[in-house]
Amino acid sequence: MNSTKYIFVTGGVASSLGKGIISASLGKLLQARGYSVTIQKLDPYINVDPGTLNPYEHGECYVTEDGAETDLDLGHYERFLNQHTSQANNVTTGRVYQTVIDKERRGDYLGKTVQIIPHITDEIKRRIKILGKKHKYDFVITEIGGTVGDIEALPYIEAVRQLRWELHNQCVNIHLTLVPFLKASGEHKTKPTQHSVKTLLEEGVQPDIIVLRSEIPLHKEIKKKVAQFCNVNPEAVIESKDVESIYEVPLLMRSEKLDTIVLQKLGMEIKRSPRLDAWKKFLHKLKNPKHNTNIALVGKYIELQDAYKSIDESIIHAGVANEAKVELSHLHSEDINEHNYQESLSGYDGIIIAPGFGNRGIDGKILTARFARENNIPFLGICLGMQCAVIEFARNVIGFDNANSTEIDHKTQYPVIDLMENQKQITDKGGTMRLGAYPCVLKKTSKSYIAYKRINISERHRHRYEFNNNYINDLKNYGMIPVGINPDTELVEIMEIPEHKWFVGVQFHPEYQSTVLKPHPLFVNFIKASLKE
Ligand code: GLN
Repeated sequence: MNSTKYIFVTGGVASSLGKGIISASLGKLLQARGYSVTIQKLDPYINVDPGTLNPYEHGECYVTEDGAETDLDLGHYERFLNQHTSQANNVTTGRVYQTVIDKERRGDYLGKTVQIIPHITDEIKRRIKILGKKHKYDFVITEIGGTVGDIEALPYIEAVRQLRWELHNQCVNIHLTLVPFLKASGEHKTKPTQHSVKTLLEEGVQPDIIVLRSEIPLHKEIKKKVAQFCNVNPEAVIESKDVESIYEVPLLMRSEKLDTIVLQKLGMEIKRSPRLDAWKKFLHKLKNPKHNTNIALVGKYIELQDAYKSIDESIIHAGVANEAKVELSHLHSEDINEHNYQESLSGYDGIIIAPGFGNRGIDGKILTARFARENNIPFLGICLGMQCAVIEFARNVIGFDNANSTEIDHKTQYPVIDLMENQKQITDKGGTMRLGAYPCVLKKTSKSYIAYKRINISERHRHRYEFNNNYINDLKNYGMIPVGINPDTELVEIMEIPEHKWFVGVQFHPEYQSTVLKPHPLFVNFIKASLKE
């Protein structure tokens, strides 16, 4: 292929319809046909990135290899395509304006009035095209956050309109809407879709393909009706019904021929059918588990569906790798206390403590680490989870009363977790943590080494505090051993208790690297350890 094709995915009627999953599924199908694909998310909010947003606002913050704090949809893109994304794959209004304003201050606009059109839209178009130009992908799929008609999304839709004009037949627009079913009248309703397409048309964009999300299978007539009202061919109206697992969506989209319609619209030859054997094998194992296990994930955002998205998905991948059905319970750390922790945590075959910030719910997490340690229950502590395990060990095994992280108690007598040296001068909150991939060297005798099967690993980070190396000998003497060390800075990346069945605390976030076709070794071996003998 000589020139990159651009696929835009817009949404209407309601948010959270799954544009990210549709984008990732289409990406998967095109990739399985042998094309190179990347997926990008444009987020219309003014924050420069979601790093400063709390999970109530935005769900999980996903971190890329190059240290970008991004939308959680990038996690889906990586998990589906089994390929890295980068800073360029997530664009926000904040970032676009920041670039344009910096240029204006430098005088780059040569005295011109700086306006939304053309300056903001040019910057959006540049950030869309850069992926195609720089990396020469066959396809760039660009998902536009929000719903059409949102004021914030207007410049993005306008950029799409301009690009379609400039690049002509190299672009396709897929519009995803919801078709509600009214129980009272026993009918599906297409009017919201018609209105949504009308809004898109008012903004100058004709959709080429319409994907209809529906909880109940659609009647054939519905597709015809939508086609007629929205100026698309009936074959280009695709049904996306609810399925049990998001990983079924690529096959669903294949059966609806979404990929071939996209290729046809772009005037491309349809050579062979997509190679999805490994994907189908994964789904088969997902649906036919041979074992069972019960895992507790302890965190403070359990009421939010998306707060621990990458951990939830990593557990699914690891379950499949072990041919096990994993019952994952999210437990609220604030509900766990001195009086009930034994009872609240008993009955689980494995325990994970989630990452987090600040002191809300911290005592419940420390008690959770204690319970897992004392009862020989497979344990995975992630970032703050690892820090809690260290605090607990220092307090209850070594006898360092009130040992703590200086994030929680800055006057603690035993700061076993402390602010990293290079964080001490930092005052800005945005993009200033230790972010992205760093190398780590493993001890050959560790459980981590058994999982990874190699000494040199690289994992992604997002934290300001670290294990305080002044206490390294105290912990070692009592049986908590640093088994993964950053070779350049000596920062402790992994702590283990060799005496324990499987007790691993990691300063990094293994969940960002687990994909359908490459489940993460630590999650795989954690689940393995949790399986009943
Ligand atoms: N709050 C801790 C730190 O900044 C842990 C961060 C995390 O769990 N991602 O070091």
